[in-house]
Amino acid sequence: MSAQQRKEFLSVALPRLLEAYGDAECSLHFRNPFELLVATILSAQCTDERVNKVTPALFKRFPDARALAQGSLKEIEKLVQSTGFYRNKAKNLKAMATDLVAMYSGEVPRSMPELNALAGVGRKTANVVMGNAFGEADGVVVDTHVGRLSRRMGLTKKTDAVQIERELNSLVPREHWVAFPHWLIQHGRKICSARKALCQSCFLADICPKKGISRKQLQALKLPAPSATLSA
Ligand code: SF4
Repeated sequence: MSAQQRKEFLSVALPRLLEAYGDAECSLHFRNPFELLVATILSAQCTDERVNKVTPALFKRFPDARALAQGSLKEIEKLVQSTGFYRNKAKNLKAMATDLVAMYSGEVPRSMPELNALAGVGRKTANVVMGNAFGEADGVVVDTHVGRLSRRMGLTKKTDAVQIERELNSLVPREHWVAFPHWLIQHGRKICSARKALCQSCFLADICPKKGISRKQLQALKLPAPSATLSA
């Protein structure tokens, strides 16, 4: 699809996604930016549900950056073990907390370049914290699910997360940057999963460029007209 076609697709798709998943939000549990930063680092290659099981004990033992920076690597590893890749994650958490203490007196900075400069914090993690802890998205969060859905819907052909983010940032209105990934993740869970796209039940089937549904099937669908409108 051309950039214009992708924008036209989104002008119809966004109100429908908003109507269907308007209350979707970050599924990681956190009480402050530090906790979200830690939880997001732990969520790499792991489900949010699993992370949410691990973080209460972790935050009880290490409630802030200073405590985590001084924590023993062995103890952190033990606490995060069930999230997978625990040695690396424990090392990253300790290094990130050490940076926070050394550079920002233990406070999580409120800007993309500062967040991105912390040990173990990539653009995706920084975007999650900027959008969901500070409400100031610097870009669309692109994880595996957002990348997959965006490709399936024809919004990008890229596979690199940073390139996908750049494309989505130019297509999705800025006021939806925080919510858009949550909508796609919900859509992936409920209708358009990696294993099976339920195109026959999908409220985007009349506009989705995926080839998994025939023209005849499309015509046979009784699709609801979009009823929600996006805020300006
Ligand atoms: S029409 Fe099919 S491929 Fe397109 S978003 Fe819906 S379920 Fe996914």
